[in-house]
Amino acid sequence: MLVVMRHDATDAHLRDVVQAIETLGYEARPIPGSLRTAVGIVGNDGRIDATRLSSLDGVREVIHITKPYRRVSREWRADDTVVALPGGLSIGGHDIPIIAGPCAVESEEQIHDVARLVRAAGGSILRGGAFKPRTSPYSFQGLGKDALRWLRHAADETGLLVITEVMDPESAELVEAHSDIIQIGARNMQNFSLLRRVGRLSRPILLKRGIAATITEWLLSAEYLMNEGNEQIVLCERGIRSFDQTTRNVLDLAAIPATRQLTHLPVIADPSHGTGDRDLVIPMARAAIAAGADGVMVEVHPHPDQALSDGAQSLYPKQLDQLMRDLEPMAAAVGRRIVTPAATLS
Ligand code: PEP
Ligand code: MN
Repeated sequence: MLVVMRHDATDAHLRDVVQAIETLGYEARPIPGSLRTAVGIVGNDGRIDATRLSSLDGVREVIHITKPYRRVSREWRADDTVVALPGGLSIGGHDIPIIAGPCAVESEEQIHDVARLVRAAGGSILRGGAFKPRTSPYSFQGLGKDALRWLRHAADETGLLVITEVMDPESAELVEAHSDIIQIGARNMQNFSLLRRVGRLSRPILLKRGIAATITEWLLSAEYLMNEGNEQIVLCERGIRSFDQTTRNVLDLAAIPATRQLTHLPVIADPSHGTGDRDLVIPMARAAIAAGADGVMVEVHPHPDQALSDGAQSLYPKQLDQLMRDLEPMAAAVGRRIVTPAATLS
């Protein structure tokens, strides 16, 4: 951290800054310049509250030199983290898995139908919400424990893995018992008590980017998980809120390569929530793979017009087949491969 003094700062201002730094337990190193003086802080362990210094008289600004997150950073670990999953599948390596399923598990029959069509299309992980974070308390909230049981059964029967969302610390163990990957949704990205709880679970975690979260905030949330001991984290770009209402969210494609530069953790994309429109999902999925995404998660429904949530962004089964066909050459173009269960699980 560097404290930059104003050009008209006095010696007394500088002394106060040096003293404040020393009171905080760090060493202050003034660096005189031709126009202004800066003060370097030696031994900064990331715990300094910059406002303690920026509010002092004579201070122009406080510049952060090191990133506020550590364990998730590329400096901490240069090599890509490859998140290992059951059945030889992984996220973050050469192979790219496709995650597909309905927004929510709506019935035993529905999730079995979807599992079969996901498997037939070549997807390898089945998604489906049992606990749904809905904006309105009057909207469909998910079928809870029954949905988890049906989801697990449908996936086991078809040779797929399960990802599903956990909404609160109370249901963390229940979700863990039924899933291979635990999803933390966009709305809960900064639910710190949930992050601490899920970080102590033994399953890989998919951490979605918050609806209005900066990349730094997203990575700090991943840091919460990692600080609890869970290093098997996958980040998911799912679109951020913007002024333009044409699409539901703005899928931040640049965030994919930008985040991969900052962190060793894998990054996948969710073009379904990212656009809110099924006809935009395939082009955005192609773009995400081209941008270096380590996976894609999409919503699909046997009858999207009858879906209890997110029908407009749910692919028709035929569109999922098309997506899989389209992604193969995109993956090949960036030196990777779309992995299918046939190549791993069976
Ligand atoms: C979901 O994946 O079903 C979901 C609710 O996504 P998000 O948290 O990104 O809105
Ligand atoms: Mn959804």
